[in-house]
Amino acid sequence: MKIAVIGTGYVGLVTGTCLAETGNEVVCVDIDESKVKRMQGGEVPIYEPHLDVIFERNINAGRLSFTTSLKEGLNHGDIIFLALPTPEDEDGSADLKYVLGVAEDIGKLISEYKVIVDKSTVPVGTSDKVRESIAKNAKCEFDVVSNPEFLREGFAVDDFLKPERIVVGASSERAINLMQKLYKPFVRSGNPVIIMDERSAELTKYAANSFLATKITFMNEIANFCEKVGADVDKVRIGMGTDSRIGKRFLFPGIGYGGSCFPKDVKALHKSGKDAQYDFKILESVIQVNHSQKTILVPKIFSHLGKDLRNKKVAIWGLAFKPETDDIREAPSLYIIEELLKAGASVAAFDPEAMDNVKSRLGDSISFAKSMYEALEGANALVICTEWGVFRNPNFNKVKEHMDQKVIFDGRNLYDITEMRSEGFSYYSIGREDVI
Ligand code: NAD
Repeated sequence: MKIAVIGTGYVGLVTGTCLAETGNEVVCVDIDESKVKRMQGGEVPIYEPHLDVIFERNINAGRLSFTTSLKEGLNHGDIIFLALPTPEDEDGSADLKYVLGVAEDIGKLISEYKVIVDKSTVPVGTSDKVRESIAKNAKCEFDVVSNPEFLREGFAVDDFLKPERIVVGASSERAINLMQKLYKPFVRSGNPVIIMDERSAELTKYAANSFLATKITFMNEIANFCEKVGADVDKVRIGMGTDSRIGKRFLFPGIGYGGSCFPKDVKALHKSGKDAQYDFKILESVIQVNHSQKTILVPKIFSHLGKDLRNKKVAIWGLAFKPETDDIREAPSLYIIEELLKAGASVAAFDPEAMDNVKSRLGDSISFAKSMYEALEGANALVICTEWGVFRNPNFNKVKEHMDQKVIFDGRNLYDITEMRSEGFSYYSIGREDVI
């Protein structure tokens, strides 16, 4: 089939590449000229495990190409995916200017039947707006489909190739048949393509992300409470998670959720509720609790090192909002670093993939180390913000050799309390006993 993907970020590039992998001919369109040039030169512009191999294979096979010309993409594709940003607007709603702007251009440029598939996360009713924007100028038939994306950064290729489910919101039989044909290779093991109306599909995405954000936040509150009453959240988590109604996943407490999706999606659903005179009380709390959770370690840092951190050096392990990505959008690390800098600390950070992105955001206000141990050189404390695999089993002798003071603030509960005690660290984590 002939496909165009408009917007080649985390979602669009993975979508385009994986659709090419099943034999489709895909043209990816992006307005970012330098990004398109890099991709044309064979470079994957984001870090996403396993993407490079299929990216290269499909370019070489002539099934995957890149352009800045929307017209070229539309001339090529029978199915047009929109994988455009829907960032948070000032009032918390999803900003639809990219999606609706491109929709209007599509109306001006198409001259034969196309299926326009919205993969961006958008509020209920957006497919109607997209339809109206295209219809203003379109002189041919077209259909609009809502096809929210559930991939996770860090597992995006696997999630796309083997999805647990695919949600398709559409009212046209013709479009539904095309979508089922396109997705057939991805659901051979029997996972469902769930067909529904556009509005329900749009809401499914927000409901899923908000539920997951709520689950994380609930556990963070249990962890905070554990600290007050002397319980251990890791034990509580295992005790709870073995109940199959609850499940083991998404119960790990930490320094809050971040990323390009949960924060903005929870806020957008909350705002959609307000617009419909519905007060989402749970989501209001989730937003508030998550905001304070991001800096929950800061008072512990102050109580151990003092509030004036001039002449103190703090090492940070992990900058990305989660492991296996270079994405730093809404990353808790940035909030902690801001507080540390305000208190006068000098900060040295290490992250396996996200340092370039932080460098372009923070410049030289912090320093970046070449290795996890180099970041510790002369440090008065280590703060762990992201649970990258390499941080799980460090050489503690090396850690001690490099640090001035043996103090760890662990925002991801990576280490065993008993081991930390016997290694002689002061160790603070989330929802567990402090080792002072
Ligand atoms: P992104 O910011 O990584 O990528 C968006 C891309 O669109 C950029 O490359 C940008 O240059 C391009 N773009 C902007 N305006 C354009 C235009 N007019 N024409 C062509 N290209 C244009 O965004 P993302 O993370 O891929 O997210 C895209 C959508 O998918 C969002 O709605 C997001 O909420 C949703 N989503 C994201 C994820 C995720 O894990 N990142 C998962 C599921 C859903």
